[in-house]
Amino acid sequence: MATKNTNLANKSNLSDKSGLAGLSLADLVEFCRVVDQPRYRAEQLYYWLYTKQVADFDAMTNIPKSFRAWLAENAAINSLTQHRLTVSDDGSTTKLLFQTHDGNFIESVLMHEGGRVTVCLSTQVGCKLDCQFCATAQMGFHRNLSVGEIIDQFLLLQRRERRRITNVVFMGMGEPFLNYQRVVDAAHLLNGQDGINLGARKITISTVGIIPAIRRFTAERQRFKLAISLNASDQPTRQRIMPIAREFPLPELLAAVSDYYQATRNRPTFEYVLLAGINDDADSARRLVDKIDGLPCKVNLIPYNEINGPYRRPTDDTIEAFTELLYNAPFTVTVRWSKGTGIKAGCGQLATENQPRD
Ligand code: SF4
Repeated sequence: MATKNTNLANKSNLSDKSGLAGLSLADLVEFCRVVDQPRYRAEQLYYWLYTKQVADFDAMTNIPKSFRAWLAENAAINSLTQHRLTVSDDGSTTKLLFQTHDGNFIESVLMHEGGRVTVCLSTQVGCKLDCQFCATAQMGFHRNLSVGEIIDQFLLLQRRERRRITNVVFMGMGEPFLNYQRVVDAAHLLNGQDGINLGARKITISTVGIIPAIRRFTAERQRFKLAISLNASDQPTRQRIMPIAREFPLPELLAAVSDYYQATRNRPTFEYVLLAGINDDADSARRLVDKIDGLPCKVNLIPYNEINGPYRRPTDDTIEAFTELLYNAPFTVTVRWSKGTGIKAGCGQLATENQPRD
């Protein structure tokens, strides 16, 4: 438990289960007001939490010793605790298993690729959307993560990484747009110029296509990158592998994404997991070009990372043939060979063995 003093929790807007990390500057101002500290103390706390990312109140050297001691007694910095760490054989990928205050488990992944250090963050404990190819779906849904629990994944990963994290993707466990406000709040904390200061275009929020949330994201003119997990170029196939497509059909989804581009001029990314015999044939490729023709975008092809399920990764020849059919398409195409598949840290492979299944 992070905030040890329940009187403090009752008096401030801190839950008695959360640490200070995850609070915005406005939240910290309110916190300082409640605990009778001057307003500028909030700015000091913000600096230590997000610019310096300290692990200990004692490191906050411009904060009076008496208040540091009080914080150490009555509050905490982080909400999550690290439970297990797995590193891939080549050292490029690290998967961290975190435990929440209420005994849930979530996973996050850190990947090195060239000069980039990317972290993939979870937004929910489990997921209710039941995409047929995804390990997280098999856990069922437990609850949304708080802003603090989302930010903590970043802070705790950065703390053990020598190089600065350059990119964040919200593509871990859960559907980010079903926890919209907290995910967007966490993205703003990552982007805060006086704090973590990660560029908005280095932060990607990925969704399976929750249309009202895409429209809200558009209306709010959020500057973070938007990725859509498409995975099929026709409604029957999409519906078969992603049941949520029944609620949010492909034509309406593509219309919402097109409106997003028209309003923001930000190019969306479409993720397309290639599944053998399901969506990897020539017709699917040609239809894909046809469906998103005219929409400036990027397409990431992701050869499927197998879990214990019915789906298989296509052969390298099939992947190549599919990719070739997209070569002359008017959008950028990349094949993303997931990193960390040996430690089950690839796309669609995150699921914690510690979490009880529903
Ligand atoms: S792919 Fe994403 S949205 Fe679909 S079940 Fe997995 S975690 Fe949920």
